Amino acid sequence: MSDYIIFEALAFAAERHKNQTRKGEGNIPYINHPIAVTRLLSKFGETNQDLLVAALFHDLIEDTAKGKKEIKELSDLIRDKFSENVLNIVLEVSDDKSLPVEERKHLQIIHTPKLSSLAKKLKIADKICNLIDIKDNPPKDWTVERKLNYLNWAKQVVNGARGLNKELDQYFDQVYEEVYRFLKST
Ligand code: ZN
Repeated sequence: MSDYIIFEALAFAAERHKNQTRKGEGNIPYINHPIAVTRLLSKFGETNQDLLVAALFHDLIEDTAKGKKEIKELSDLIRDKFSENVLNIVLEVSDDKSLPVEERKHLQIIHTPKLSSLAKKLKIADKICNLIDIKDNPPKDWTVERKLNYLNWAKQVVNGARGLNKELDQYFDQVYEEVYRFLKST
């Protein structure tokens, strides 16, 4: 297996996200987040190349394509340059942004148990990274209550994705506890 495709994917994702920053302080480039998610999956023993590429791409559809036409164009690009399998994993973890936020959040809880194994692991790694950000570099305008709500929601989503990588499951629980205690002490 060649690592080249991983770097090809990294360059592709970095280019697509180049004008975006994370919601926290410091204008952190958005690409740092997909890199962190991919690193976490790799750290916990995940070697499936389609999964790692999909992790680098997991926010591309939601955040770098607007409307059906752009989503179709980006989907075709991912399928042609990478693979149908990578595209399917990315689509599985992408919300329908035409729906209101609360409905999207509710649908994540309902849909996650039905996802493929690879998509489930990606979901957990994504939520872990978001919880770490909520502790270390949260969105600027979020109240403690909003952060606690996010934590609670993330746990409900992750509960539908457990049982495939024990270390990943345990690390979610560990991070959840740490962030929960941190928020309760502030
Ligand atoms: Zn993400």
